[in-house]
Amino acid sequence: MVICRELLLARRLLGHSFNSARFGYSGLRFQSSVVAAECKISSSDAADSARKTPGDFLPEDGRVGDLVVGEILREASQEQREIKENARSSSSKKYGEVSIDQKAVEQAFDYFVVIDFEATCDSTVFFPQEIIEFPSVLVAVHSLSVEDSFQTYVKPTFNPQLTDFCKRLTGIEQTQVDNGMALAEALVKHDKWLEDKGVKSKRFGVITWTDWDCKVMLDFECRLKGLTKPSYFNKWINLKSCFQEKFGDKFNLKKAVQHAGLQWQGREHCGLDDAKNTASLAMELVKRGMQIGFTQHQSSRKPAITNISSEFMPKLKKILEALPRSSDIDETSITVGADNLCYCGVKCKTRLVRKAGPNQGKFFLSCGNWTLTEGGKCTYFEWMNPPEQHSPSPAKS
Ligand code: AMP
Ligand code: MG
Ligand code: MG
Repeated sequence: MVICRELLLARRLLGHSFNSARFGYSGLRFQSSVVAAECKISSSDAADSARKTPGDFLPEDGRVGDLVVGEILREASQEQREIKENARSSSSKKYGEVSIDQKAVEQAFDYFVVIDFEATCDSTVFFPQEIIEFPSVLVAVHSLSVEDSFQTYVKPTFNPQLTDFCKRLTGIEQTQVDNGMALAEALVKHDKWLEDKGVKSKRFGVITWTDWDCKVMLDFECRLKGLTKPSYFNKWINLKSCFQEKFGDKFNLKKAVQHAGLQWQGREHCGLDDAKNTASLAMELVKRGMQIGFTQHQSSRKPAITNISSEFMPKLKKILEALPRSSDIDETSITVGADNLCYCGVKCKTRLVRKAGPNQGKFFLSCGNWTLTEGGKCTYFEWMNPPEQHSPSPAKS
C-alpha cells in the first residue's frame, strides 16, 4: 500500500486569523504556553516532553549563566564517579539477574530508526526552536547491528544565525546550517533513504531518547510551518522509558549508556553521535531480553499553530512567505510501507467513508483490530489517498 502525500509548505497558517489577544509576547510564558498547550503534555510525561523548553534552563534550576562550564565540570566529576560505579557493578554483577545474550525474546520490529534532533537554542528563552540537525541511525534488529546512518543539517528560517551557546552545545557550525536544506526537504530525503533501504516494507519503529524529538520539536515545527510529516513519526519508542523499566533509574542519555556498561562514543549533543549511542543502548536492552514496543503516540490531526502574538506576526508572515513551495522540492511523495501499524502494533485496516457528507468516498487507515461489531481496539486514524483501483465513486450510504 502506498500513500502519496503532498508536502505542502507553510501556507496554512496564513489563512488563519491570528488570535493576538490570547498571548502577550512575553518570552518564556509565550514559548512554554505554545509548546505545552499545543502539545497537550500530560503531567506524567511533562518532565520529559517539556525538558527542552526554555523554562528548563532558567535560573531556578541553577543551570543558566555559567551553564556550559558548570555542566562540563559537573559532568566530568560525575563521569569519574560513574566509571567507578560501572566497574564495581559489572564485577559484582549488579544486574546479574539479566545475563546478556541469554534471553531470545521475539521482537516486534525488523528495524529501529533512531533519531536525535538538534535545534536552535540559547541559554535562556528561545523561540521558535527549529531543527538544525536531522540524524537517523538504522538498526537491523535480527542481527543487532547498525546497518546505515543518515545525517543532514537543516537551515533554520526564523533565527538563521546560531547563537554561540548553540554552537558550543551542539558543535554545529554556522556554515553547516547555512548550507543545510529546508526541514520539508530533509523529511523527504530521510523518507527516501528509508525507502531505498527497504525499511518501509518491513516492521519498523522510530526510537528517540525522551519524547521531546517527536512529541514536541518535530510536531511543533511541522505545525508551525504547515508541513505534513510521515505518519511513522506519530508513534515512537521513548528509549528513556524502556531504560527506566529495565534499570529503574532516571539518567540523561550519556549516563544511561554508561550505566548499562557501554562506552559513550563521540560528542554529546552532536545529533548523529547521540543517535548512535541511543542505538547502542537500544541494542543492549534487546540483548538483555527486553521486548521493545511503542511507548507513545500522538494524533496526526492536530491543527496548525495559530496562537501567535500580533507582535511576532509580521516576522512570521515574511518568513513563511519566503519558504519553498512544494513544487520547489524534487520529491513530494511520502510513502508508507505495507506494514503501517496502528497503535496496537498490527497492520492498519483501510476503510472507506460511506456516510453522506464532505468525506464520503474517502479512504482512511484505522486500527488493524477493527471489527464491524466492536469497532477498533485503538484510536488510530489517518486519511489516505484513495488507491487507484478504488476510484472513490460516491458510495451509497
Ligand atoms: P540533545 O538531544 O540532548 O542534544 O538536545 C536537543 C536539543 O535540545 C539541543 O539541540 C538544544 O536545542 C536543546 N538543549 C539541550 N540541552 C540544552 C541546554 N543545556 N540548554 C539549552 N538547550 C538545550
Ligand atoms: Mg536528544
Ligand atoms: Mg542530541
